[in-house]
Amino acid sequence: MVAKYLQHENPPPEILVFVDLPDGELDETGKGILSEASRLANTLGCSWAALCFDAATDQAIEGFSPYGTARVTLIEAPDGICDSLEAQGNLIALAASKLEARLLLLPHNDLGGALAPILASAWKSALFTEAIAYSGDNDTLKLTRSILGAQVAESKIWNSRNPLVLTINPRVLSAVVMPSMRHTKVQIERWQPSVPTAAGLTRIIQRIPPDPQTVDVSEAEVIISAGLGCNEKTFAQVEELTRLLNASLGVTRPVYDLGFAGFERMVGQTGKTVAPRLYLALGISGSMHHLGGIKDSRQIVSVNIDPKVPIFPNSDEGFVADLRDVLPLLIERVKAATGGAA
Ligand SMILES: Cc1cc2nc3c(=O)[nH]c(=O)nc-3n(C[C@H](O)[C@H](O)[C@H](O)COP(=O)(O)OP(=O)(O)OC[C@H]3O[C@@H](n4cnc5c(N)ncnc54)[C@H](O)[C@@H]3O)c2cc1C
Repeated sequence: MVAKYLQHENPPPEILVFVDLPDGELDETGKGILSEASRLANTLGCSWAALCFDAATDQAIEGFSPYGTARVTLIEAPDGICDSLEAQGNLIALAASKLEARLLLLPHNDLGGALAPILASAWKSALFTEAIAYSGDNDTLKLTRSILGAQVAESKIWNSRNPLVLTINPRVLSAVVMPSMRHTKVQIERWQPSVPTAAGLTRIIQRIPPDPQTVDVSEAEVIISAGLGCNEKTFAQVEELTRLLNASLGVTRPVYDLGFAGFERMVGQTGKTVAPRLYLALGISGSMHHLGGIKDSRQIVSVNIDPKVPIFPNSDEGFVADLRDVLPLLIERVKAATGGAA
């Protein structure tokens, strides 16, 4: 069955946002990209709709409403097709063409980053990846991203004449529902493509959730960071805490210099720029070089023995305390709460 608005009974949406639903559910990334689609449509003064592969649960679809999603097209793909990135990309591009969308929006996570060039090639569109900001109106859109290790911001203008595939850096995605977003009743339309969808060369074999101990710290959800206020003993306790709380380890530059952790764990201007839900700064003074890398964190909680350090005014919550006292107690509490399991 072809969805109604694929036959133009409804006006075509100008922005089409692709929402991946792992196990049929709407996750934080999905909510974040819906929120972004709503904001972008507001900026451009245009209509938008969502596109997903089928197998969406009722609860997932309900989750689209708070963002003002009026329409969702569910692609009823042939069995096994969603294992192939090329086939997924071709189907999404085909849907975008049929819907006469102007802009295809995705999060730049593993899937979105892999799909974006396939989509741009299949849809013959312009491509802008990992945007962190945008501004504009109905005719032009100025898109900005960070390049050269986040040292330089690069901007390009989209003139809206050619279609555009746009991916958003997941760090700037926020699932927040803005007051401007109207709660909507979602109109679901199903589309069963009848085109041959030959499997491609790249296949998704398994989805493995990231291990917080090894995930790139710039993608970590919860980071516990150790500064020079940690000695060998308290640093080992910080490591234990990360394991117990399923968090990722971060360090300041002096801690990296001391050889406590690898360069890939260093956070800051010369290290990684991070944007976790929670950044726990332990024994960190809050130099501008470190703060520059953590300013996008959703919540910063710090512990320092000195009440005058700059990390405190840059934190959501700060505790003046000695890590040598705090860490053993914290570990004990966490173990009691979790039975020692992570
Ligand atoms: C070009 C350049 C680039 C740089 N890039 C980076 C970068 O990417 N990342 C980075 O982190 N740094 C970077 N730095 C270094 C940066 O300037 C700071 O020196 C560094 O961030 C300080 O790290 P820190 O907070 O761990 O150490 P400190 O500034 O020494 O702070 C240690 C803190 O621990 C507290 N403390 C001590 N004992 C305890 C205790 N028992 N309990 C609780 N608190 C305690 C102290 O009060 C102090 O505030 C860069 C420097 C330069 C020049």
